[in-house]
Amino acid sequence: MENSGREIVVRILLLLFIFSSVWGAKLHFKLYKKESLNPSNTLLVIGGVHGDEPGGYFAASFLVKYYDIKKGALWIVPNLNFDSIVKFRRGIYGDMNRKFAAIKESDPDFKIVKDIKEIILSKNVDLILNLHDGRGYYREKWENTIFNPYAWGQACIIDQKEIDGCRFGNLNEIAQKVNNALNKRLKKRHHAFHIKNTKTKFKDEQMRLSLTYFAITHNKPALAIETSKHIKDLATKIYYQLNAIEEFMKILEIEFERKFELDVKTINELLNNDLGNIVINKNSVLPLKNIKKSVGFFPITEKNIRYESNDPLVTVIKVGKNYAIYRAYKKLTTLYPQYFKPDCKIKNVTFVVDENKKYIPIPSIINVKKSFKVLASKDIRVNVIGYSKKGFKNENGIEIEKKECQERYSIDKLHKKYRVEFYKDKSFCGSVIVSFE
Ligand SMILES: [Zn+2]
Repeated sequence: MENSGREIVVRILLLLFIFSSVWGAKLHFKLYKKESLNPSNTLLVIGGVHGDEPGGYFAASFLVKYYDIKKGALWIVPNLNFDSIVKFRRGIYGDMNRKFAAIKESDPDFKIVKDIKEIILSKNVDLILNLHDGRGYYREKWENTIFNPYAWGQACIIDQKEIDGCRFGNLNEIAQKVNNALNKRLKKRHHAFHIKNTKTKFKDEQMRLSLTYFAITHNKPALAIETSKHIKDLATKIYYQLNAIEEFMKILEIEFERKFELDVKTINELLNNDLGNIVINKNSVLPLKNIKKSVGFFPITEKNIRYESNDPLVTVIKVGKNYAIYRAYKKLTTLYPQYFKPDCKIKNVTFVVDENKKYIPIPSIINVKKSFKVLASKDIRVNVIGYSKKGFKNENGIEIEKKECQERYSIDKLHKKYRVEFYKDKSFCGSVIVSFE
């Protein structure tokens, strides 16, 4: 009895171990370093510790996409709790922001927390910002259930007034400066920012487990910026977050160039229209704006799909046999794969685009006004998806116009973009997207 009992316990433990490693976070965050040659301070901005607070992580993604640093350095983690961002939940493995004092090795967030702690403690980092969208509107005095001292929204959060003998340790003064700047640029009066001092060491047991408290107890100044969950317009939240971050950069003498006007309308346009591209297995590319809900017979050469996107919130999730492409919590499309050998590698292909001969790198997206023609070497089979001509199995050397392509094969909802794929025997060599005007 005793023996078999022990065996069962061992088996359960083994199962738990297997589950915990299988159920470990699937997506890891990425650190983007923007460093100039002019030395100054380094600001570390962390977005997405909570997956249902998009103002924070979209603002961080804007830093990655549209800011250049001219003096000092900006380090950005836009997608700390990426699994939870995709699900739009605070934390699918529990609250990540309560795991910074202690975390078990079996916790799915273990590696993420360990790795971000290392970055926080890096000797380069001078100040850390943790971005959130909080409940209600913080006010020092109780006004009602939305505006009150227990709310978190529209506030700079500090754990204590200062950290003794620490550069940028004057947290209260810094928060005051940032709030003053923000309050000059409010969209509505009730959006006013305030300082919320959680007095963590003496009063807030829960906050002692947080990222910022971990930082300040290791002599690293850290604050949180909270926009309000009650502000429904995402662009408005991003606007406040970016205004706050820019003010922090000023305080840290970090100089930057922003590639857009900092107003809600422009942010909204970028948010909805600049979805960027995704490159898959280095041989295919997909433009993500207006992409159809599904893309069939998508050639895949590696089962462990590799991808890169110029949008840090874009990711690929395997769902059954298919691949779903997400941008944050929004599913953009599903790829239905068809597997090919990866043996063929070609760097570029000759195209005639509107009568001009061009060498087109693989993969890439090319704009076509009227027609295009591929001039690949004879051993390459060219397949323009959506085009067919009786008696031809290879579209190499055929001039093709938009009206000859069947709309149901386009990759976009506007029926302007088509895949041109290259094969050699049974291997997939890569593809080019032709985008008609
Ligand atoms: Zn939060």
